[in-house]
Amino acid sequence: MRHVIPNKIEGFYIHIPFCKAKCPYCDFFSIPYKDITLDKLYVNAALSEFDKRLTALISQGIVPSNNPTIYIGGGTPTVFSISELSRLIEEVKYRLYKEGASHIREITVECNPESSSLSLFKRLNKIGVTRVSIGAQELIHKGLLALQRPHIPDDAINTIIMAGEANIASIAIDLIYGWPSQTLSDLNNTLCVLEDIMPRIQHVSWYELSYEPHTPFFSMRQKGLIQPLDDDTLIEMAQLIKGFLKSKGIYQYEISNFSRPSHECAHNISYWENRPYLGIGPSAVSYIPPRRWQNARDIAAYMRGEALGEQWAETLSVEASFRETVVIGLRKIRGVSQKQLKDRYGIDMFSYYGNIIIELIDAGLLRYDGNDLVNLTKRGLRVSNEILSRLV
Ligand code: SF4
Repeated sequence: MRHVIPNKIEGFYIHIPFCKAKCPYCDFFSIPYKDITLDKLYVNAALSEFDKRLTALISQGIVPSNNPTIYIGGGTPTVFSISELSRLIEEVKYRLYKEGASHIREITVECNPESSSLSLFKRLNKIGVTRVSIGAQELIHKGLLALQRPHIPDDAINTIIMAGEANIASIAIDLIYGWPSQTLSDLNNTLCVLEDIMPRIQHVSWYELSYEPHTPFFSMRQKGLIQPLDDDTLIEMAQLIKGFLKSKGIYQYEISNFSRPSHECAHNISYWENRPYLGIGPSAVSYIPPRRWQNARDIAAYMRGEALGEQWAETLSVEASFRETVVIGLRKIRGVSQKQLKDRYGIDMFSYYGNIIIELIDAGLLRYDGNDLVNLTKRGLRVSNEILSRLV
């Protein structure tokens, strides 16, 4: 069995674990942001971790790719001052160019409406940020109240407008559907608001609300205090969303992600292709084959400059990595290339899964193009979790 272990790091993720307030559905690691004195300490700690990890990897022959991506996520990166956020980005860019990158393919910053401004976007554009991902989550009052977000619809719309005025090349927004008490008529109201602003947007991530363990929404659901929407309504909502976005020239390229041509998120595509990436900051996950690990979630120790331990780590066998690449790759509408899988792992997808793949194709849930690509059908997309769990 041949296994080509990639030795180039394609993506660099830096986690900013602070938010204005904690949203009741969110299971990302973040704590409430206190004051500006944090910014500099945290940026110093992140850069120091970046240096240590990169030096260690380079000593093992693992180097940044020629055109890597940078993703500043959280949490809410925009709670930081403009100067510290820019310093972080510029220093990371400087290090990557110094270590051989000839071009940074994409730099994304997650921005929340309550902490964004025109001057922030202008500065981000000036230092080479190509993409902002705006955490709008909803565009109507009822939705933002249900999700307990700290902004109002006008804040989200103004943030999109400001990012456009600052000439950010790709403006992405995050939205959530299926929130408690949402009706189809609410969704139509959201689509009406979105319609006006749509020409300014290049990318939409529209996620179904999930009830993650250990979140307030999860326990409220357990206690019967909130009622999740029924499956039929959720399916109808997903169809409405897809139809609307398609009519606006925004095509689906992943289960929850839609984009205008050439505005797909390169950083996330790298995840879905299971390529190596380095995560910096408490709770950040890294995948440097064959290892995957998550940094410990200790912000205080991190800010004191102490080395982070690992929350968990695993070493993937060739087969486990192959299966993972198939399962994550099928999230893409294009699907997976069995030729590329064979080149990378020396494993033939059809032989490996035997009858499972044939059964899924016969059931109309997977499609094989007869040459190379295997992908989920429309029906398959609706039950993707069940299909993917059969292939894990
Ligand atoms: S702002 Fe985003 S990262 Fe922060 S708690 Fe809310 S959903 Fe989570």
